[in-house]
This record gives sequence, C-alpha cells and structure tokens, in this order.
Amino acid sequence: MKKSRICVLAAGVLVLFAGCLMAACTREHVHEIVYHEGKEPTCTEGGWQDYETCALCEEYSTYRATPPTGHRPGPSATCTTDQVCTVCGHVFVEKLGHQLTIYLGQEPTCTPAGWEPYETCSRCDHTTYKEIAATDHTAGAAATCTTAQTCTACGAELAPAAGHKEVVDNAVAPTCTETGLTEGKHCSVCSEVLIEQEAVKATGHTEGEAVRENEKAATCEEAGSYDEAVYCTVCKTELRRENKQIPETGHTYENGVCTACGEAELTPTEGLIFGQYFDNNSYIVTGYEGSDREVTIPSVHNGLPVTGIALTTSANWTGMTSITIPNV
Ligand SMILES: [Zn+2]
Ligand SMILES: [Zn+2]
Ligand SMILES: [Zn+2]
Ligand SMILES: [Zn+2]
Ligand SMILES: [Zn+2]
Ligand SMILES: [Zn+2]
Ligand SMILES: [Zn+2]
Repeated sequence: MKKSRICVLAAGVLVLFAGCLMAACTREHVHEIVYHEGKEPTCTEGGWQDYETCALCEEYSTYRATPPTGHRPGPSATCTTDQVCTVCGHVFVEKLGHQLTIYLGQEPTCTPAGWEPYETCSRCDHTTYKEIAATDHTAGAAATCTTAQTCTACGAELAPAAGHKEVVDNAVAPTCTETGLTEGKHCSVCSEVLIEQEAVKATGHTEGEAVRENEKAATCEEAGSYDEAVYCTVCKTELRRENKQIPETGHTYENGVCTACGEAELTPTEGLIFGQYFDNNSYIVTGYEGSDREVTIPSVHNGLPVTGIALTTSANWTGMTSITIPNV
C-alpha cells in the first residue's frame, strides 16, 4: 500500500514537470531550426521527406515518414532471364530454363546443307542449330547428245543433253546399174542415224536404136559384114553386138562389063546342056555337046542362077582342059 502511493506521487511530479517545460518553451525561446535531409523510400524500406526540428527543444518537428514503394516487377521470366524488380533487382521468378526439343544431325549432301545434332526451345528462339556446308556435286560422265551430265551422288542434272548436230546425207541418184540413196540425216557428233537413207532401185539401161559398126561393104564377089550394136542411151554401155553378113552383090553387067568392079562378063561356052534343078529356081549343067576344051559355065541361065554341074558319063567331058565356074 505504501509503495503504490509513492508511484502515484512520482507520476504526479512528472506531469507537473512536463507542464512546466512546455510552458517554459512556448514562452521562453524561438525555435532554432535544424534542417534534416529526406531519405527516399526503397521497395521494402520506408523513407522520409526533408524536415525540420528545433535544436533547443524536442517539441518541434516536421518529420513525416514515407512508406516503402513496393517492388516494380519487370518482364516475365524467360528461359534465360529471371523476372526481377526493375528497381532493386529482387528476383520474383527464376529463369525457366529452355523447353528443349532435341534434333538429330543430318549429313550434308550435294546441294542441301546438313547440320549437327541440335536443340531448340519451344518457348523462345533459342537454338544450337549449326549448318554444315553442302558438299560439291560429283560430276558423272560428260553430257552427250541425248544424255545429261548428272551428279553420281544425288542424280541432279549438272549439264543438259547437248542434242544432235544434224548433218544432211545427200541423196544419190541411181544409175542404170547401181542403186541410189534417198536423202538422210545423221549426227556429226555421235554418228547416230536420224533419218535413214533408203536404197533407190537402179533404173536399168535404156536401149538405143541399133547402129552399124565395123561395116565392111560387100563386093561383087565377096560378102561384107557389119556389127549391129545396141548402146544404152543414158550410160553409153554396149548392150549387144551381133556380127551380120552382107551377101556379095554379084556382078552387074552392062554391055559385057560389071558396072561395079569393071570385070568383063564371061561368055558361056556353046554346047552346054542345062537342066532345071528340082526346086525350079535354078539350073544345073547336065551335059555338054560342044567341042571346045576350055569350058566356061555362066552364073545365070534364062534368068535363074546356075548352081552346079551334074557329072554324067558323057564322053564330051573327057579331055577337058579347064572349066571356068563363076563365083556364085
Ligand atoms: Zn524548440
Ligand atoms: Zn524491389
Ligand atoms: Zn527458352
Ligand atoms: Zn549431287
Ligand atoms: Zn548426236
Ligand atoms: Zn545404161
Ligand atoms: Zn562386078
């Protein structure tokens, strides 16, 4: 009981003292202003504005607290960046890491390039793709008229087929004996026949009119002859040759002399007996009643030729010295 009474007493003294102080300040001085610089608040800590206090008393102060600003979150977290406070860097969401898809590599070929095995992210443009340069084509056999040059590895066409170089094979006219050819075409590069030449039949000879050659004229007493030759009018080849006789012309007497050869006509010996030959177109000598020992037999008797002598037993033939027989 005694103790609590002391406490109450002490409190009363304090109140009295305080009231006295306040009364003294307001009454007894002008505040001596002290300026305090403000402090900006941070995301998590509060600050304050510029303020004044009094150096002489505790009564005067314009202090006013400023609350913390709170974090300002930046862009959302990505695979490789955290979401942080743009002011203080406080990490809200840690980086996500890539959502990887793994791809197999591809060996390069002639034209499309290849690539190493790589990965990509389905969320961002992250990729480890790295191209491997395409290899060169491996050229196959050189292009020909009809085939292109290709790559032996991939089959790609490297040079087109050149196409044939046409050369005209002139037509050849047929001759009498040799076949000809129609016009054709071939390639001067590969020799391939593009249009085949076809055989054209030989025309065969064209017979001209028969001509006389090597003619040897007949005389009164000797036969003549000539060659009857036939040539091709186109190629002049001799096609036929036939030797023909020309009968002797016989004498053509006029006034006892041959007008052709000048030979004197023989006078038939008198006493010759003629008999008609069985063909009735000629005579033969069948007998002789003359006395002359040199007998001349005519070639013609009564307009018909005398063709022979029938040997009879007539005594008049014996002892004859000559018989002249005309050339018939
Ligand atoms: Zn003061
Ligand atoms: Zn912050
Ligand atoms: Zn990513
Ligand atoms: Zn290729
Ligand atoms: Zn060709
Ligand atoms: Zn001919
Ligand atoms: Zn004559």
